[in-house]
Amino acid sequence: MGQNPAVDAPKTEQPARVGRAEPRDIVELRQLKNDQPDLASAADMQIELLGAQRRVQSRVPLPSAAFDERKPDNQMRRPALEFKDIPIDWTDFRLMVRQTTDILRRFDTLEAPDYESIQALARDGQLEAVATQWYESAMTPALRRGEPKTPEKELLDQVLLLSMRPFLTRCAEALLPRMELGEWQQPCCPLCGGEPELAYINPAAERLLICGRCTGQWRYHPIACPYCENTDSRRITSFTSRDKRYRLYACDECHRYLKAYDGRDGSRPAMLSVDSIATLPLDAAAIQRGYQS
Ligand SMILES: [Zn+2]
Ligand SMILES: [Zn+2]
Repeated sequence: MGQNPAVDAPKTEQPARVGRAEPRDIVELRQLKNDQPDLASAADMQIELLGAQRRVQSRVPLPSAAFDERKPDNQMRRPALEFKDIPIDWTDFRLMVRQTTDILRRFDTLEAPDYESIQALARDGQLEAVATQWYESAMTPALRRGEPKTPEKELLDQVLLLSMRPFLTRCAEALLPRMELGEWQQPCCPLCGGEPELAYINPAAERLLICGRCTGQWRYHPIACPYCENTDSRRITSFTSRDKRYRLYACDECHRYLKAYDGRDGSRPAMLSVDSIATLPLDAAAIQRGYQS
């Protein structure tokens, strides 16, 4: 009795795994599923994406020391991190592309033809060039504006963003705290040049932007639209979620909007992975009023 090795074998590992606390964002996403069952599928997908990202991120080395001589140039609007600085392991990057598309497909976010073409790209020699171009296009403001994107390109960009995140987040964690950001007043990320995906109103009531690529944060104008830099408060429509945790700034110049987590009470910092899901009802409200993300 109780001699079955198949049952006994995992015992030595089990306590450690169960005992290790889950990361805060996973705990918050599970709570969100409980509180708002409508968001359960989106939260589950996010939990899977985070799992895939963390497994790769734990293997990403520190960015090269050569980076230390560089800093963002506010006048030239040039962020600090160049593509060659990113410690990318291409085998891991291909794995991220495959796993990310698998997860998006499973949650019906990718249709079969898009899934197939991105999976093919993950095996293709072109992938490095495509990733390089994706990274650099956001760093060049001239290229960023007015370039109409097809739905296929939007999806590919989304997969590249999620697949590159373990590498870019590692850079942001290692490099941003050491960087002098006092002069940086741009609406794009001082590290990687990415667009903001969310804003964070901190306990000092300052507005920070959170990069959609590397998840780094930087201070920005309290009301300006980060997409067209409109600062006329009469041309910015702002509304809050019912629980007052979230706020949305919709620009009446460019018709884009930015969501924000209001953390003035200091209960927790902003968490992009959680807050982007918790605010899906705000996205719906903004889109209904004719604004775009
Ligand atoms: Zn960034
Ligand atoms: Zn705008």
